Amino acid sequence: MRKPGSKERIRQFFLANIGKIVTSIQLRDAAGSDVSEWARRVRELREDEHWPILTHHDSADLRPGQYLLKETPQGRSSVKFARGLSAKLRAEVLDRNGFTCQMCGLTPGDMDPATGRPVRLHLGHIRDRSLGGKDELSNLRTLCSSCNQGAKNITVEKPTTIWLLSQVRRAGQEEQMAVLRWLRKKFGQVD
Ligand SMILES: [Zn+2]
Repeated sequence: MRKPGSKERIRQFFLANIGKIVTSIQLRDAAGSDVSEWARRVRELREDEHWPILTHHDSADLRPGQYLLKETPQGRSSVKFARGLSAKLRAEVLDRNGFTCQMCGLTPGDMDPATGRPVRLHLGHIRDRSLGGKDELSNLRTLCSSCNQGAKNITVEKPTTIWLLSQVRRAGQEEQMAVLRWLRKKFGQVD
């Protein structure tokens, strides 16, 4: 539930393949290990978010198991893009950053405790374009809306093991179990 959701992965996969026919196998792979989930996610994008995803029911050009996102979907997405970046580059940055805010670690699907609203990710430059920053993988990262606006007082330094452990030890049992579930989901069985 905390991981880059399968829905977000499918969303990004479609966005990286606008106008191209994709297959159910590709969608299953894009969704990650959860094999049963991709079809439901595609249905949600079609029905709840009105994405123009065609199937063989909609178009004679498509065979069963083929899908086509015709054009850029309108409406809200949980990821906001810096203008002018290619879909491929955006997908690469999101994938590398694990669909996670690189400052506070929140991910779409989380509620932002600072705003009480669902997390939206922004994809932006580490070194600004106006300062000569390039549109390349090494100069791009994902931040949530609050961090993007500088609204949280968090350093970019990655937390150390001892700091993480100390926080987990201080937390309540319910929170500790939530961390364990998240680790299991991310890494499988951990010893
Ligand atoms: Zn953040």
